[in-house]
Amino acid sequence: MRYFIETYGCQMNKAESAALELQLADRSWRLAADPADADLVLINTCSVRITAETRAWGRIAHYAALKRQRDFVLVVTGCMAERLKERMKAKAPGIDYVLGTFQKAAFGVLLDAAEAGIRLDVIEETPGFVFAPSHREAGSYSSFVPIMHGCNNFCTYCIVPYVRGREISRSPRAIMDEIASLSAAGVREVTLLGQNVNSYLWEGEGGPLDFAGLLRLVADGAANAGIGRVRFVSSHPKDLSPDTISAIADNETIARHVHLCVQHGSNRVLAAMNRKYTVEAYLELATAIRSRIPGITLSTDILIGFPGETEEDVEETLDLMRKVRFAYAFMYHYNPREGTPAATMPGRIPDTVKKERLARVIALQKTITRELMRDMLGSEVVVLVEGLSKRSSDEVFAKTDQDMMVVFPASSSRIGSFARVRLDSIRGNTFKAVEVL
Ligand code: SF4
Repeated sequence: MRYFIETYGCQMNKAESAALELQLADRSWRLAADPADADLVLINTCSVRITAETRAWGRIAHYAALKRQRDFVLVVTGCMAERLKERMKAKAPGIDYVLGTFQKAAFGVLLDAAEAGIRLDVIEETPGFVFAPSHREAGSYSSFVPIMHGCNNFCTYCIVPYVRGREISRSPRAIMDEIASLSAAGVREVTLLGQNVNSYLWEGEGGPLDFAGLLRLVADGAANAGIGRVRFVSSHPKDLSPDTISAIADNETIARHVHLCVQHGSNRVLAAMNRKYTVEAYLELATAIRSRIPGITLSTDILIGFPGETEEDVEETLDLMRKVRFAYAFMYHYNPREGTPAATMPGRIPDTVKKERLARVIALQKTITRELMRDMLGSEVVVLVEGLSKRSSDEVFAKTDQDMMVVFPASSSRIGSFARVRLDSIRGNTFKAVEVL
């Protein structure tokens, strides 16, 4: 039997789709080249913006129309499924199953039914949350390993806590087993994944274990299993502990890079966002990380145009960026998300103003990235070769410990291995390098 999956949204959704594909592969299902040939189509949805939901409705309508020509099983999962549940079926009767983020364990039940040629009217709710195993993508030497699910923070602009529920930490044993099996499949780099990995806390068998403890455990286990690099994402600044900084400093297997989401550089806006830290605390944390781990890079997310944001707030954000000097940043402007407190806050910023402010933030970040890259020229770094360069089959594409992109002359036989290179020049956001033997 054949399946087709469309995945929208964040890395968590991508990891979860990959896990569902693993279940399908275990049952000898094959990926259909065209959804028109699939026996089952699954749409993994995102709720982070209303536009993401509008797009998902468009895809559902498309498949519902296709079903009128040829029958197949249509499944909707992800955050939108969790938020709207069975209401989705009322609006789009072509949907056969709506699987919320807490119901993925039931996927096997609906596959049993599909294989038997029947449709179930109801799928029983499963208690608790089940972490599905990760799945190494073909040709990839990196893999995400989910370590927690949900979020307790309720940032006022974010829908995640409402659609993914409260934080649940995965057992260290399951995490380590998964890393061992990924390693056996050829993976050389793992990224521990969660909405806020710093608040990881395992209190079950063998616990308590916090994130710093987990990092040490994973770094030891990964090194023994032949995994050369461990990353983690995302980090909430209020929860990154001194012990976590020590764990990174003490273990060279852990990448010299932290994605530390700041979101804004104004204390007034940070408070309105319910971020629970100040600019001063963030700067102190960045300094502590850098003084303990020389050469580490920081990257971030910046959200511009939050309700009530003033010119002065934007200037403070630019000032923070100049002080921290992020290697890169994901920068976006605020869009209200129905169902979150910020959506009804006064002081909406007009689109033209948001875009103009964001353009200034992006321009500054480009300058900083370029300056940092220039400072690194001539240095020798270790990279993981991830594939062939898009521009030339005589070059390979790799990533440094600090999460910077590199290309250098080498054959495809180097893909999946580590190499030491010297950074020689810059092409866009990528270093050109030569291997140092
Ligand atoms: S920390 Fe804030 S932004 Fe991140 S998922 Fe939780 S509520 Fe959303």
